[in-house]
Amino acid sequence: MHPSGAQLSDADTDMNFHTPLTIALSKGRIFKDTLPLLKAAGIEPVDDPDTTRKLILDTNHDNVKLVLIRATDVPTYVQWGAADLGVTGKDTLMEHGGDGLYEPLDLQIAKCGMWVAGFPDADLAARRLRIATKYVRAARDHFAAKGQQVEIIKLYGSMELAPIVGLSDLIVDLVETGNTLKANGLVTLEHMHDISSRLVVNKASWKMKHATLSELVEELRSVVEKG
Ligand code: AMP
Repeated sequence: MHPSGAQLSDADTDMNFHTPLTIALSKGRIFKDTLPLLKAAGIEPVDDPDTTRKLILDTNHDNVKLVLIRATDVPTYVQWGAADLGVTGKDTLMEHGGDGLYEPLDLQIAKCGMWVAGFPDADLAARRLRIATKYVRAARDHFAAKGQQVEIIKLYGSMELAPIVGLSDLIVDLVETGNTLKANGLVTLEHMHDISSRLVVNKASWKMKHATLSELVEELRSVVEKG
């Protein structure tokens, strides 16, 4: 039974899932924005995702399961085939590197930018800048492409604090409204990447379950294109 009380079945949707599919999602922003897309493609969780403590959610299709994991683990689960497909931010995907994954669709959700940020008077051309970030790989690649030697300091959160306490000269972080930076006296200095959530598919699953997966990808593509 769906939380809304409606009894959903395969007959309510166009797609029939004859092949078992496991979809990896992370709780929070991505989950909230992905649910309406999955719903439009005919997939709905049976358990109420807001209240359940389950990590594997049943859906209205016996063959389709959702696994709820940490955002940074989504590419790993899909890479190793523990999930056939998943939804993950481009930021997370860049850090993972994308081994074993196809990225067939930009879902156009959880949009933001990856930026170099710091105090308004920061000198971006200074030698041996220290950069605090969760996005070590993206930061390293960005400054290497500019031919600039920098020291990267890996953090797991609250990057904005680093320049304030003198831990780093700059940070690399995601910026949506800019409010978090502003509240801490920081500004965006250099744009690095446009970020949004992507559908990722395990390469072996793409071959073995091609008919079902490609139909689902095209269904989602048409939902995304309709906006
Ligand atoms: P904002 O204050 O709106 O610029 O949001 C910035 C904060 O939200 C930072 O801590 C970011 O790491 C986080 N953030 C913004 N957009 C996203 C996103 N699409 N996915 C994950 N984290 C985000």
